[in-house]
Amino acid sequence: PESADLPRRVLLKLSGEAFGGGHVGVDPDVVKGIAHQIADAHRAGVEIAVVIGGGNFFRGAELQQRGMERARADYMGMLGTVMNCLALQDFLEKEGVDTRVQTAITMGQVAEPYIPRRAMRHLQKGRVVIFGAGAGMPYFSTDTVSAQRALEIKCDQVLMSKHGVDGVYTADPRRDADARKLDRLTFSEALSGNLRVVDAAAFSLCMDNALPMLVFGMDGEDSITRAIKGERIGTLVTA
Ligand code: UDP
Repeated sequence: PESADLPRRVLLKLSGEAFGGGHVGVDPDVVKGIAHQIADAHRAGVEIAVVIGGGNFFRGAELQQRGMERARADYMGMLGTVMNCLALQDFLEKEGVDTRVQTAITMGQVAEPYIPRRAMRHLQKGRVVIFGAGAGMPYFSTDTVSAQRALEIKCDQVLMSKHGVDGVYTADPRRDADARKLDRLTFSEALSGNLRVVDAAAFSLCMDNALPMLVFGMDGEDSITRAIKGERIGTLVTA
C-alpha cells in the first residue's frame, strides 16, 4: 500500500497464548519474531500501542472452574500479562525500538503506571507503548481493554490478532466445515451472530464509539506488520 494508506496510530492486541508457543510461559523465539514484525511496521512510521493477553500463564475463568475465587484468579491472570509485556519490551529494544511499559496495577520497579496522556506523548516521540495488567479489574478481558485503550489514546483502529484463526467466520471453523470467512461485517452482526472470536464487550465498545476493528491471524509470516501498515487482511468490523 502507498504511504497515504498508512494508519497514524493503532492499538495492537496480541494473544498471550501465542507468546507461549503452545506451552506455559514465554517462548523467546516467538516473542522475538513478533517484535521483529512490530519493529518493521514502526520503521514505516506508524505509532503503535500494544496490549498483550495472559492466556499462556493464567485465565481467571479456568482457575475459577478449578475452585479458585474468580477475582483473585483474575488478578493472577493480569499479573501474567505483565511478564509478557516485559518479554516484548526486551525484544523490541533489541530491535532498536524505544519502548515504555505502562501497567493498570502499579508496580513502579518494572513499569510506569497507566497515564493516558503520557502514553500519547510517548507515541508522539516514536516510542512503542505496551500496556500490561489489563484494565486492573477482575471480570474484564484483554480484548475489552484493547478497545478501551484504543479509544482513550485516540487510535484509528484496534487490531485484534488471533492465534490459530485468520479472521471472523460465520461459525467456528474448527467445528463447522461449512464455516465461511467474512471479509467485512458490522459490530451488530458480530453481536447478534454471537461470533465469539472477540469478546462481546469489546465489540460493543467499538460499536458505540465507531472505532473500526481488524480481526486477523497472527500466524502468517509478516501478518502483524501488514495489519499495522493498514493492509486489509483478516476481517474488518465497522459500525
Ligand atoms: N484479566 C482481568 N482483567 C482484565 C484483563 C485480564 O481479570 O482487564 C485476567 C483474566 O483472568 C484473563 C487473564 O487476565 O483470563 C488473561 O487475559 P486474557 O484471557 O484476555 O488473555 P488472552 O486470552 O488474550 O491471552
